[in-house]
Amino acid sequence: MSMLFSPSSRCRHCLSPLSQRQYISHIKMVHHAFGYDEESEDGSYTFTNWTDYINEEDSTFYDDYFLFDGKYFVSSGEIRDGILYEWISLIGNPEESEKYRATLTLASPKFKVPRIEWTIRVLPFTMENRPDFKYCSGIPVQPILAKFVSRNCQSDRGDMREFVWKQKVTITKVDANSS
Ligand SMILES: [Zn+2]
Repeated sequence: MSMLFSPSSRCRHCLSPLSQRQYISHIKMVHHAFGYDEESEDGSYTFTNWTDYINEEDSTFYDDYFLFDGKYFVSSGEIRDGILYEWISLIGNPEESEKYRATLTLASPKFKVPRIEWTIRVLPFTMENRPDFKYCSGIPVQPILAKFVSRNCQSDRGDMREFVWKQKVTITKVDANSS
């Protein structure tokens, strides 16, 4: 057990020094994170994301979390230069993350637009900023994400937000014998 803090051992939201093992309780207590402490049967978890600035500005979202296969996963995202980037990481041994894939699905309950799905690798959790874009979903805000957005809806935290969309994250275990 090391108690040393490297520069990346700080919460990327508030820069508090933390160990990775403290991260989930920190984002629950300090950032009122939304998440799932109970495992879903099919590995799917639904999150409500929002931004108040869909066209004009970059946005960073607070991390969400969920429990799957006895481990905590973190769902992270941001909008940069008109692209929504999202990535999924696992708190645990770095090798463990290689056993999982995440499928991100956007679907609109309101509009007749096709669903979109991205399958990405699960990364070892770090408190650093966005990983390389090849490990992220990359959805152009215009015209794609905007089609899935509802105006003036409740976020997961219960407050009203300007631009809101629902997203499903589905975790699957990679069959070690198939590759
Ligand atoms: Zn923090």
